[in-house]
Amino acid sequence: MPDQLPVVVVGAGIAGLTLSLCLARAGIQVTLLEKAERLREVGAGLQLSPNASSILIDLGLGPALDATGVRPEAVAIRDSASGEVVTRMPLGGVMMDRYGAPYIVIHRADLQATLRDAVMNEPRVTLHLGAEITSIRQFKDTVEVQATRGGKSSTYTGSVLVGADGVRSMVRQKVLAGGPAVYTGRTAWRATFQASDWHGALDLRKETGLWMGPRAHLVHYAIDAGREINLIAAVDDDWIEDDWDVPGSKLQIRDAFADWPAQVRELIDKPDIWRKWALCGAPSNTPWVRERAVLIGDAVHGMLPFVAQGGAMAIEDARVLASLLAAEDDRSIEERLSTFVSLRKPRTDKVMAMARRNGSIYHLDGLSAKARNMVMRLAGPERLLDALDWIYGWTPVES
Ligand SMILES: Cc1cc2nc3c(=O)[nH]c(=O)nc-3n(C[C@H](O)[C@H](O)[C@H](O)COP(=O)(O)OP(=O)(O)OC[C@H]3O[C@@H](n4cnc5c(N)ncnc54)[C@H](O)[C@@H]3O)c2cc1C
Repeated sequence: MPDQLPVVVVGAGIAGLTLSLCLARAGIQVTLLEKAERLREVGAGLQLSPNASSILIDLGLGPALDATGVRPEAVAIRDSASGEVVTRMPLGGVMMDRYGAPYIVIHRADLQATLRDAVMNEPRVTLHLGAEITSIRQFKDTVEVQATRGGKSSTYTGSVLVGADGVRSMVRQKVLAGGPAVYTGRTAWRATFQASDWHGALDLRKETGLWMGPRAHLVHYAIDAGREINLIAAVDDDWIEDDWDVPGSKLQIRDAFADWPAQVRELIDKPDIWRKWALCGAPSNTPWVRERAVLIGDAVHGMLPFVAQGGAMAIEDARVLASLLAAEDDRSIEERLSTFVSLRKPRTDKVMAMARRNGSIYHLDGLSAKARNMVMRLAGPERLLDALDWIYGWTPVES
């Protein structure tokens, strides 16, 4: 990179931590600013498809991921009307054979701790927790971020500013003149329970599950080395609370799934505590780059989680941006950032469109749902896998 100043990264979530690690490994100094006082996990589980797990494994995180993550054998896709399996797509060994990397399901806390520990071991990364950003200015060759920490104001100067501050990104709104997060009309209900408490017929440890039904779907998979089961219920809904992450009422979630098969109702009944999230996206016209400032992860392409790719795209962004910034050639920073956008935007746009489409397909009702099931049955697992090759089989382009 034609500059010796650090890269200033705002936000130590999946995107910011992965980017910091990739940059440090490439010999670049990083100042990582996080507003939270402590790095704590948000949410419950996360699915890591091979396009993302391969990057983390390349960073040396494979053993840590395997210690807490689970490699499910398959995903069983079921219909809520009959309760029957529509199709079963193999994951386990097939992912390794096809893409050379595993499909892993993991607790977010475990992924975040793995990334955080690796970042803390990098002397090139300086992490500042509890940093409230007060202003960001761009000059011809530098960026300057002012933040208060513990009542004291500090200035951080860098060569590039990366906004990795999530779907409600302040960098997007303040520096790139982008809009606020947009509510999608869907809520996600999230909960976990002890796997040992489950005595139902479904083998929750071995397979992940996707149940499709009218105006809702349910996803379940094992996390914490198989000790816990993670549930995500996505429901068409109007959001009326002021907050976007609130305790969910068990009565309300029971009600949403009242007409579903007994196995689903049993699952919904298991956890004591549910949380309810407003599913929001970044506005569609979000600019990615302005001079030396760039957005990555949910800050620029926050999306519906219906292809389980938001975190994966954040990890891919981090990998691509780091290798562009580290490349030993005479391109300017602005040229590198512009290449980053041309490499990433078409792909993330396509993934976002697929997530929206899946939302509609999963929530079909009546005859449309029957037609969907027939198409899925006829396609079979091989065709479903073929349709995902462009996502799971991605590898970074070095340029
Ligand atoms: C229900 C649900 C299920 C999902 N399932 C999957 C899945 O299975 N697979 C998958 O790949 N993705 C999934 N996702 C998407 C995934 O969670 C996100 O895409 C991912 O967390 C985005 O990471 P990020 O680092 O961009 O943002 P975040 O994880 O939101 O991190 C942003 C960080 O920035 C910090 N921050 C915010 N503002 C500031 C500020 N002003 N100054 C400093 N720091 C700041 C925050 O505290 C946070 O630490 C799911 C999402 C939901 C809602």
